[in-house]
Amino acid sequence: MKRLIELKYAVIFTIIFSGIMSSTSCTPKHAEQGKRPDYVMVIHGGAGTITRTNMTPEVEESYRTSLMEALIAGEKVLKDGGSSTDAVIASIILLEDNPLFNAGKGAVYNEAGEIAHDAAIMEGFEGKAGAVGMVNTIKHPILAANAVMNDGKHVFLVGDGAESFAEKSGLEIVSPEYFFTQKQWDKFENSLKTKPEPAFPVQSKSGTVGAVALDRKGNLAAGTSTGGMHFKSVGRIGDSPVIGAGTYADNKSCAVSATGHGEFFIRNVVAYDIAARMLYAGKSLKDASEDVVMVKLASLDAGGGIIAVDKDGNIAMPFNTAGMYRGFVKAGEQAVVKIYADE
Ligand code: ASP
Repeated sequence: MKRLIELKYAVIFTIIFSGIMSSTSCTPKHAEQGKRPDYVMVIHGGAGTITRTNMTPEVEESYRTSLMEALIAGEKVLKDGGSSTDAVIASIILLEDNPLFNAGKGAVYNEAGEIAHDAAIMEGFEGKAGAVGMVNTIKHPILAANAVMNDGKHVFLVGDGAESFAEKSGLEIVSPEYFFTQKQWDKFENSLKTKPEPAFPVQSKSGTVGAVALDRKGNLAAGTSTGGMHFKSVGRIGDSPVIGAGTYADNKSCAVSATGHGEFFIRNVVAYDIAARMLYAGKSLKDASEDVVMVKLASLDAGGGIIAVDKDGNIAMPFNTAGMYRGFVKAGEQAVVKIYADE
């Protein structure tokens, strides 16, 4: 009889305990369902006034092809068991080489007719990060950011110091003319006449590039590379290389890369805000990123968007502009590239 009573209590305890466990989600959903994808890769090529009416079919096709190539390059690293950091770098290098985008070759000019690249990378495992700002002789600024991160002494190097550090690290150095494109130079010359404020909507297509990834080991990484805002002041650094603003990764929450009007993204610590809402307020990646981009930034008239992947492999890509060049792929699924808001 005594044994029967003990057994009865044991059963009741088990039922109550398992009820508490599932209602408070102590076990991550993906662990319960075995659903976390083996890897995830997401990229962006900038947000802005990207509409079908200001695009030709040929230009649209070249953007889609370029995005797909960059996405697949990152995915290949992950598929082969490489790290999220290497995947982010593989995608961004291709976008930096591509004159369609405002990063590396094809970057915009500042008000003095100079190019000034910014880039950052961050790993979610131990929170290592590296960034460079105001450089125009490093062929791949994202590699310089990575070298700063791996060196570990500092997080953020700018100008001449960043360039000589990159050279000492064995990175490819080029003359500033290497980054020239007629398209951006014409835009600069036009702005010399019209003297526009360097406001985000002025840029029809911003072209900043970024990537976030989750690798097979569950490590997150984020990277962003840009020429910054067209006709920016000399000495201006945007949000892209500012850790927590334009770039952030933490294995406990998510990896984020942003594009948009940098001053707002810095003031609102956008990338970290998304991660913090997940970590401290228990928000999902979707809710956290939409609250920040579609509600908070939109209410400030701050144009832009973000790409993000969380520790469970969920993806979010909200933007409050007409379009954002973007693409994503999860292990075992088809790679997808999109441009406009309605696709
Ligand atoms: N966020 C970049 C900056 O402010 C620009 C962009 O994303 O287009 O420098």
